[in-house]
Amino acid sequence: MARPLKAIIDLEAIKINYQFSKKLHPTCKALAVVKSDAYGHGAVDVATYLDDDVDAFAVAAIEEALQLREADVTSPILLLEGVFEQNEWPLCEELGFWCVIENTTQLDGLLNAQSKIEKVFVKLDTGMHRLGLNSLQVEHVVDTLKASGLVEEVVLMTHFSCADDLSSLETIKQLTLFEEANRTVGHLTTSVANSAAIMKWSVPEGGWIRPGIMLYGISPFVGVTGTQLGLKPAMQLVSKVISVRDVNIGDTVGYSQQYTAEHPHQIATVAVGYGDGYPRSSENGTPVALSGDTAELAGRVSMDMITVKLSNQASSERPHQERKIQLGEEVELWGEQVPVEEVAYRSGTIGYELVTRMTQRPMREYK
Ligand code: PLP
Repeated sequence: MARPLKAIIDLEAIKINYQFSKKLHPTCKALAVVKSDAYGHGAVDVATYLDDDVDAFAVAAIEEALQLREADVTSPILLLEGVFEQNEWPLCEELGFWCVIENTTQLDGLLNAQSKIEKVFVKLDTGMHRLGLNSLQVEHVVDTLKASGLVEEVVLMTHFSCADDLSSLETIKQLTLFEEANRTVGHLTTSVANSAAIMKWSVPEGGWIRPGIMLYGISPFVGVTGTQLGLKPAMQLVSKVISVRDVNIGDTVGYSQQYTAEHPHQIATVAVGYGDGYPRSSENGTPVALSGDTAELAGRVSMDMITVKLSNQASSERPHQERKIQLGEEVELWGEQVPVEEVAYRSGTIGYELVTRMTQRPMREYK
């Protein structure tokens, strides 16, 4: 008998979301972003499933790309942070990795290594001020790469800081700077759009889009779910009720007495906790789905368990016949019925963080 917690990953949903991103920009190619273990969904399983259908993958750094090649993933793989150590360049040539160059040390490294790289994405810093070159450096790097004979194609890229905020003018400012720089370097192929930009901003056509969070069916926007954006959630986190008890008025539940019963009701204990990646900061009232009913968190999240009660909404639907919680009932922590975005919001974070920081403890089941 195993602990009943599992993350069920719908690989076909990820493929459908990838195709959805391409339909929004039919002239673009798309880098499926599978960094950080495919945002917690399992990079090897995800990339193996998508390998024949994607234009290319993107990861953060070479370790993640090597893991995919070892699993026989054959598509090109872009290293979004580029190369850190000089000995990585020959591996990039040998294994067909594409590289971002975001500083002049990386350019010097490539020139010294004399490795042949099919595509280099030169990153312009248009306002994020995290990675990237300024406009003057970009001109120098692009010219040098073109003259080097080491690179088949130079792509000009940037990354938006506020594409998830539709009221911010920053994205327009960044795009304007980017287009100016691209005119100066002679109209290279471009790559600017993350999921938020793919779905809501007008981005240069004909380049490379970079869908990440949307592949997993999760919204980059606060207050909107992936489903509302036409995406298909790819991860369902499910567990079971492992204990049931009655509480009376005034009884408290869990560590530090963070919940006090205001009327007699049942408490169900469910096998999931912060040791699995369920957020400890989730507040009372965070929804879970319990065999078709809604239920809500009552009391603090423990390392291995949470405690829930049926929500008022469910019991008011059956005022004369209060539903009893059964041992062994299935509970969805997030997925189709409970949007991961809602759990994230109730715990003061974003969907990206919840799926990415899931620990290895929950079983993974792929369908
Ligand atoms: N492009 C770059 C450079 C990134 O760092 C990321 C992720 O952080 C992405 C694209 C994908 O972003 P998102 O998950 O918001 O689609």
